[in-house]
Amino acid sequence: MPQVLDAELKRALAARIRYYNELGIYDFYRRETVPSLTAAQDLPESFIQPEQREEMPSTRSVVAARTTPEPNLEVIANKPEYGMKDPIEALRIIREDLGDCTRCVLHQQGRKQIVFGVGNPKADLVFIGEAPGADEDQQGEPFVGRAGQLLTNMIKAMGLEREQVYIANIIKCRPPNNRTPERDECETCSPFLMRQIATIKPKVIVALGAVAAKTLLAINDSMSNLRGRWYEFRPTGARSNDPKWTGAKLAVTYHPAFLLRDPRQKKEAWKDLQMVMKELGLKAPAKPVE
Ligand code: URA
Repeated sequence: MPQVLDAELKRALAARIRYYNELGIYDFYRRETVPSLTAAQDLPESFIQPEQREEMPSTRSVVAARTTPEPNLEVIANKPEYGMKDPIEALRIIREDLGDCTRCVLHQQGRKQIVFGVGNPKADLVFIGEAPGADEDQQGEPFVGRAGQLLTNMIKAMGLEREQVYIANIIKCRPPNNRTPERDECETCSPFLMRQIATIKPKVIVALGAVAAKTLLAINDSMSNLRGRWYEFRPTGARSNDPKWTGAKLAVTYHPAFLLRDPRQKKEAWKDLQMVMKELGLKAPAKPVE
């Protein structure tokens, strides 16, 4: 049965299609997100560190700020890395395409450098955070501050090394005073992340925190509702060079910075990670991780 669109959604859809047409893009594909299952269990040593509820960021969140329902369309245009066999080279091309980016206001708001992403270009597992903080802006690498240290320990608790996974953020430049990224900043930046994901072709993506989860899934819901299940994820507007890779499974967990503020939630995050480990056939190391 054809779906009846309300007037506001129709207007938003028409404006979006006009925008893409002006860019010379005429082919659109419908995209669905399919929720499914759950999992559970004891907190590893490496998780233990210094609190609060991450139901929603206190400042305006990317999706919470939305007043208009988002048209669920996928746009695929040719990108220079398409067809490249070597993911290292493809990621290099994407980074080159990003350049010394001035596409959003963040380039004028004190960013020191672009924080592209780090790790294994063929990783089965990709972690996506929100935005670089001060340490990341300084060092040019995601998750290198206190929250990053905890993320590294979480990865080790899963029986992996940081170098085995890929780590990136929804946006690549530090927002002033670490404010929550604005929706337009996420929309401007995330196409590059989509291309990175389509290049890496992970089996599983873990969205760290509300901003990453809501942006990747285009769902506005509480963290407690978003966690504990799998989603089918296909990078919007980006194509993999491998027809066999049709997307990744996506799980949502708490952001490490939130876990530092509210360590009681670590056991919940560990349940999320155990769900991921089961999917990837990973076993936690026998000895506690230092
Ligand atoms: N928080 C994030 O979301 N990303 C980082 O890279 C660091 C802290």
